Amino acid sequence: MVLAAAGAAAVVGYTAFGDEAPLGILGANAPLGTVPDVPTGLGSFAFAQEQLGRPGMPVAYSPCEPIRYVVNEAYAPAGGAGLLAEAIGEVSRATGLVFEAAGATDEMPFAATPVLGDHGPVVIAWASPVEVPDLVGDVAGVGGSTAEQTPGALAYYVSGGVALDGPDLTSVLQRPDGPAQVRAIVMHELGHLVGLDHVDDPAELMSATNVGVLTFGPGDREGLAALGSGPCVR
Ligand SMILES: [Zn+2]
Repeated sequence: MVLAAAGAAAVVGYTAFGDEAPLGILGANAPLGTVPDVPTGLGSFAFAQEQLGRPGMPVAYSPCEPIRYVVNEAYAPAGGAGLLAEAIGEVSRATGLVFEAAGATDEMPFAATPVLGDHGPVVIAWASPVEVPDLVGDVAGVGGSTAEQTPGALAYYVSGGVALDGPDLTSVLQRPDGPAQVRAIVMHELGHLVGLDHVDDPAELMSATNVGVLTFGPGDREGLAALGSGPCVR
Protein backbone atom coordinates (compact mmCIF):
# COMPACT_ATOMS: atom_id res chain seq x y z
CA MET A 1 0.00 0.00 0.00
CA VAL A 2 1.25 3.42 -0.86
CA LEU A 3 0.22 6.48 1.09
CA ALA A 4 -0.92 9.48 -0.89
CA ALA A 5 1.56 12.23 -1.52
CA ALA A 6 1.18 15.25 0.68
CA GLY A 7 1.09 17.42 -2.43
CA ALA A 8 2.90 20.54 -3.50
CA ALA A 9 3.08 23.18 -0.80
CA ALA A 10 5.58 25.37 0.92
CA VAL A 11 7.24 23.57 3.80
CA VAL A 12 8.51 25.80 6.56
CA GLY A 13 12.04 24.94 7.59
CA TYR A 14 12.73 22.58 4.73
CA THR A 15 14.30 23.26 1.39
CA ALA A 16 14.39 20.66 -1.32
CA PHE A 17 17.28 21.05 -3.70
CA GLY A 18 16.66 19.92 -7.22
CA ASP A 19 19.36 18.24 -9.22
CA GLU A 20 20.21 21.62 -10.75
CA ALA A 21 21.49 22.95 -7.42
CA PRO A 22 25.14 24.04 -7.58
CA LEU A 23 27.46 21.43 -6.12
CA GLY A 24 28.98 24.07 -3.85
CA ILE A 25 25.71 24.32 -1.98
CA LEU A 26 25.41 20.57 -1.65
CA GLY A 27 29.09 20.09 -0.83
CA ALA A 28 28.67 19.54 2.89
CA ASN A 29 25.65 17.35 2.35
CA ALA A 30 26.88 14.12 0.85
CA PRO A 31 25.15 10.74 0.68
CA LEU A 32 25.73 8.71 3.85
CA GLY A 33 26.02 5.38 2.10
CA THR A 34 27.14 3.92 -1.19
CA VAL A 35 24.73 2.90 -3.92
CA PRO A 36 25.73 -0.49 -5.32
CA ASP A 37 26.65 -0.82 -8.97
CA VAL A 38 23.97 -3.09 -10.38
CA PRO A 39 23.44 -4.43 -13.88
CA THR A 40 20.50 -2.78 -15.61
CA GLY A 41 17.81 -4.04 -17.93
CA LEU A 42 17.68 -7.56 -16.48
CA GLY A 43 14.32 -7.36 -14.73
CA SER A 44 11.19 -5.40 -13.95
CA PHE A 45 10.65 -2.63 -11.47
CA ALA A 46 8.22 0.22 -10.94
CA PHE A 47 8.31 3.27 -8.73
CA ALA A 48 5.47 4.14 -6.37
CA GLN A 49 5.73 7.79 -7.43
CA GLU A 50 7.66 9.59 -10.14
CA GLN A 51 8.66 13.25 -10.25
CA LEU A 52 6.12 15.43 -12.01
CA GLY A 53 7.13 15.92 -15.64
CA ARG A 54 10.17 13.67 -15.27
CA PRO A 55 9.15 10.16 -16.21
CA GLY A 56 11.48 7.55 -14.80
CA MET A 57 12.80 9.78 -12.00
CA PRO A 58 11.44 8.42 -8.73
CA VAL A 59 10.33 10.17 -5.59
CA ALA A 60 12.83 8.96 -2.98
CA TYR A 61 14.23 9.58 0.46
CA SER A 62 17.22 11.89 0.73
CA PRO A 63 20.35 9.70 0.79
CA CYS A 64 22.09 12.33 2.92
CA GLU A 65 20.05 11.78 6.07
CA PRO A 66 19.34 8.53 7.87
CA ILE A 67 15.85 7.07 7.67
CA ARG A 68 14.95 7.07 11.37
CA TYR A 69 12.53 4.36 12.42
CA VAL A 70 10.76 3.13 15.52
CA VAL A 71 9.41 -0.40 16.00
CA ASN A 72 6.15 -1.55 17.58
CA GLU A 73 6.63 -5.14 18.73
CA ALA A 74 3.04 -5.68 19.96
CA TYR A 75 2.48 -8.73 17.72
CA ALA A 76 6.08 -9.64 16.93
CA PRO A 77 6.64 -13.36 16.46
CA ALA A 78 9.60 -15.00 18.19
CA GLY A 79 12.65 -14.12 16.12
CA GLY A 80 10.85 -11.27 14.40
CA ALA A 81 13.26 -8.58 15.57
CA GLY A 82 16.23 -10.43 14.07
CA LEU A 83 14.45 -10.98 10.75
CA LEU A 84 13.47 -7.29 10.62
CA ALA A 85 17.08 -6.29 11.24
CA GLU A 86 18.24 -8.59 8.43
CA ALA A 87 15.60 -7.21 6.05
CA ILE A 88 16.59 -3.62 6.85
CA GLY A 89 20.22 -4.57 6.18
CA GLU A 90 19.28 -5.98 2.77
CA VAL A 91 17.37 -2.84 1.78
CA SER A 92 20.13 -0.60 3.08
CA ARG A 93 22.77 -2.47 1.06
CA ALA A 94 20.57 -2.46 -2.07
CA THR A 95 19.87 1.30 -1.88
CA GLY A 96 22.82 2.78 -0.02
CA LEU A 97 20.23 4.41 2.26
CA VAL A 98 21.16 4.40 5.94
CA PHE A 99 18.53 3.35 8.49
CA GLU A 100 18.78 4.52 12.08
CA ALA A 101 16.94 2.74 14.89
CA ALA A 102 15.21 5.27 17.13
CA GLY A 103 13.73 2.95 19.73
CA ALA A 104 10.36 1.39 20.46
CA THR A 105 6.86 2.76 19.99
CA ASP A 106 3.26 1.94 20.88
CA GLU A 107 2.08 3.73 17.74
CA MET A 108 0.69 2.02 14.69
CA PRO A 109 1.69 3.21 11.21
CA PHE A 110 -0.73 5.22 9.07
CA ALA A 111 -2.65 6.17 12.25
CA ALA A 112 -2.22 9.91 11.91
CA THR A 113 -2.91 12.10 8.91
CA PRO A 114 0.48 13.36 7.67
CA VAL A 115 1.13 16.98 8.64
CA LEU A 116 3.34 19.05 6.36
CA GLY A 117 6.71 19.71 7.93
CA ASP A 118 6.02 17.43 10.89
CA HIS A 119 8.18 14.42 10.18
CA GLY A 120 8.10 11.74 12.82
CA PRO A 121 10.20 8.62 12.34
CA VAL A 122 9.05 5.78 10.11
CA VAL A 123 6.82 3.46 12.17
CA ILE A 124 7.40 -0.27 11.61
CA ALA A 125 4.81 -2.34 13.46
CA TRP A 126 4.20 -5.98 14.04
CA ALA A 127 0.46 -5.43 14.06
CA SER A 128 -2.82 -7.29 13.77
CA PRO A 129 -5.75 -6.68 11.42
CA VAL A 130 -7.64 -5.23 14.41
CA GLU A 131 -5.31 -2.24 14.57
CA VAL A 132 -4.49 -2.09 10.85
CA PRO A 133 -7.56 -3.09 8.81
CA ASP A 134 -5.51 -3.19 5.59
CA LEU A 135 -4.07 -6.45 6.94
CA VAL A 136 -7.45 -8.23 6.92
CA GLY A 137 -7.46 -11.44 4.88
CA ASP A 138 -4.33 -12.87 3.30
CA VAL A 139 -2.43 -9.55 3.35
CA ALA A 140 0.84 -10.17 5.17
CA GLY A 141 1.97 -6.57 5.27
CA VAL A 142 1.61 -3.06 3.92
CA GLY A 143 4.15 -0.30 3.51
CA GLY A 144 4.51 3.15 2.04
CA SER A 145 5.83 6.64 2.48
CA THR A 146 4.60 10.21 2.33
CA ALA A 147 6.22 12.77 0.06
CA GLU A 148 6.56 16.51 0.36
CA GLN A 149 7.53 19.06 -2.24
CA THR A 150 8.34 22.74 -2.34
CA PRO A 151 7.29 24.57 -5.48
CA GLY A 152 9.82 24.17 -8.27
CA ALA A 153 11.82 21.49 -6.45
CA LEU A 154 11.75 17.73 -6.51
CA ALA A 155 9.41 15.79 -4.22
CA TYR A 156 11.00 13.61 -1.59
CA TYR A 157 9.82 11.19 1.06
CA VAL A 158 9.73 12.47 4.62
CA SER A 159 8.31 9.55 6.60
CA GLY A 160 6.33 6.39 6.22
CA GLY A 161 5.22 3.16 7.75
CA VAL A 162 5.26 -0.60 7.50
CA ALA A 163 2.64 -2.83 9.12
CA LEU A 164 3.42 -6.53 9.35
CA ASP A 165 0.65 -9.01 10.13
CA GLY A 166 1.97 -10.60 13.32
CA PRO A 167 -0.58 -13.45 13.51
CA ASP A 168 -0.22 -14.31 9.78
CA LEU A 169 3.56 -14.20 9.91
CA THR A 170 3.66 -16.26 13.09
CA SER A 171 2.05 -19.09 11.12
CA VAL A 172 4.32 -18.53 8.10
CA LEU A 173 7.26 -18.96 10.48
CA GLN A 174 6.13 -22.53 11.22
CA ARG A 175 6.78 -23.58 7.62
CA PRO A 176 10.07 -25.33 6.84
CA ASP A 177 11.42 -22.24 5.09
CA GLY A 178 9.46 -19.93 7.38
CA PRO A 179 12.14 -17.51 8.57
CA ALA A 180 13.38 -16.86 5.02
CA GLN A 181 9.79 -16.33 3.84
CA VAL A 182 9.04 -13.85 6.63
CA ARG A 183 12.29 -12.00 5.95
CA ALA A 184 11.30 -11.79 2.26
CA ILE A 185 7.86 -10.42 3.14
CA VAL A 186 9.47 -7.75 5.35
CA MET A 187 11.91 -6.90 2.52
CA HIS A 188 8.95 -6.51 0.13
CA GLU A 189 7.21 -4.07 2.49
CA LEU A 190 10.44 -2.14 3.05
CA GLY A 191 10.73 -2.01 -0.76
CA HIS A 192 7.38 -0.18 -0.77
CA LEU A 193 8.62 2.06 2.05
CA VAL A 194 11.59 3.31 0.03
CA GLY A 195 9.51 3.76 -3.11
CA LEU A 196 9.00 0.58 -5.14
CA ASP A 197 5.61 -0.40 -6.53
CA HIS A 198 4.42 -3.86 -7.56
CA VAL A 199 5.45 -5.43 -10.83
CA ASP A 200 3.72 -8.19 -12.77
CA ASP A 201 6.79 -10.43 -12.79
CA PRO A 202 7.03 -13.50 -10.54
CA ALA A 203 10.86 -13.38 -10.65
CA GLU A 204 10.88 -10.17 -8.61
CA LEU A 205 10.26 -9.83 -4.88
CA MET A 206 8.04 -6.82 -5.68
CA SER A 207 5.58 -9.09 -7.47
CA ALA A 208 2.19 -8.49 -5.80
CA THR A 209 1.86 -12.19 -5.04
CA ASN A 210 4.93 -13.99 -3.80
CA VAL A 211 5.52 -17.37 -5.39
CA GLY A 212 8.62 -18.33 -3.49
CA VAL A 213 11.07 -15.54 -4.28
CA LEU A 214 13.14 -15.08 -1.13
CA THR A 215 15.37 -12.17 -2.05
CA PHE A 216 15.45 -9.16 -4.35
CA GLY A 217 15.46 -9.96 -8.07
CA PRO A 218 17.42 -8.08 -10.73
CA GLY A 219 14.65 -5.55 -11.41
CA ASP A 220 14.09 -4.98 -7.69
CA ARG A 221 17.80 -4.23 -7.32
CA GLU A 222 17.88 -1.83 -10.27
CA GLY A 223 14.90 0.06 -8.84
CA LEU A 224 16.34 0.10 -5.32
CA ALA A 225 19.68 1.46 -6.57
CA ALA A 226 17.78 4.27 -8.34
CA LEU A 227 15.86 5.01 -5.14
CA GLY A 228 19.12 5.37 -3.26
CA SER A 229 20.40 7.86 -5.85
CA GLY A 230 17.99 10.73 -5.16
CA PRO A 231 19.15 14.27 -4.48
CA CYS A 232 20.23 15.43 -1.04
CA VAL A 233 17.57 17.31 0.86
CA ARG A 234 18.15 19.54 3.83
ZN1 LIG B 1 3.22 -5.20 -1.88
